[in-house]
Amino acid sequence: MTIQWFPGHMAKARRQVTEKLKLIDIVYELVDARIPVSSRNPMIDEIVANKPRIILLNKADMADSRITKQWLDYFNLKGETTEAIAIDSQTGKGLQQISSLSKELLKEKFDKMQSRGIRPRAIRALIVGIPNVGKSTLINRLAKKNIAQTGDRPGVTKAQQWVKVGKELELLDTPGILWPKFEDQMVGYRLATTGAIKDTIINLQDIAVFALRFLTEHYPDRLRDRYALEEIPEDIVDLFDAIGTKRGCMMSGGHVDYDKTAELVIREIRQEKLGKLSFESPVQL
Ligand code: GDP
Repeated sequence: MTIQWFPGHMAKARRQVTEKLKLIDIVYELVDARIPVSSRNPMIDEIVANKPRIILLNKADMADSRITKQWLDYFNLKGETTEAIAIDSQTGKGLQQISSLSKELLKEKFDKMQSRGIRPRAIRALIVGIPNVGKSTLINRLAKKNIAQTGDRPGVTKAQQWVKVGKELELLDTPGILWPKFEDQMVGYRLATTGAIKDTIINLQDIAVFALRFLTEHYPDRLRDRYALEEIPEDIVDLFDAIGTKRGCMMSGGHVDYDKTAELVIREIRQEKLGKLSFESPVQL
């Protein structure tokens, strides 16, 4: 899905999420475990305000587990009504914690309701996140069937529907979609490297330069092993030349084709050919 985020669209998205917040007890904020800060909406704290929230580090299967652990510590230190869990929505790993943690965070509210004689009901939740972070995959997985297909048809207003997750939890079937942070160029590169934004938005060679510099600094062994490099050249053009030559990304005349090399590197990162990678860590903040 591609969404062009103009100020009008952002305002509308914010309004829609704010409306949905009135219906629910708790927010599940979905982020990409490989870039948990870059894949957040910049105004999320303000938009969600006082609702309890669980930060779900999704696609944890693709992230560096050592760094994911650091992120969990980082987010879990922050406050009593915000917790974080690492999950993999494709296989369902980690999802069983969501319901129990929600109950914990809402215990006081529900106890109070009960003491006032209000009949017990299921916890109501909303999933929010930027495009491509895995919202539909998660809803489908939790609902155990295919209900979250984006079936929006122009002119047809669909009523809000609840999806049952066991007996004690209900989810709104349409997630809250919010925009990512665009202002910071590094954020753009991280989103592009992980495939969260379309490749046409940022030049592919620029994305590959970012990714290769990051790998050189944080995962030099993976880079050396994957492309059979004895040494990693310091100069980025030399690094492109080395990889392009090794992998046969050539133009006629025997020159390295930088577009092809960039495309190869980015594709292989996304296909986990260089292993599980995280592109930001709490230490950098
Ligand atoms: P949405 O735009 O937030 O609804 O994102 P989607 O649910 O459409 O997911 C975007 C892409 O990420 C799809 O290709 C999913 O298969 C993939 N995806 C979602 N969750 C996971 C996950 O936990 N692990 C992996 N490896 N891929 C995931």
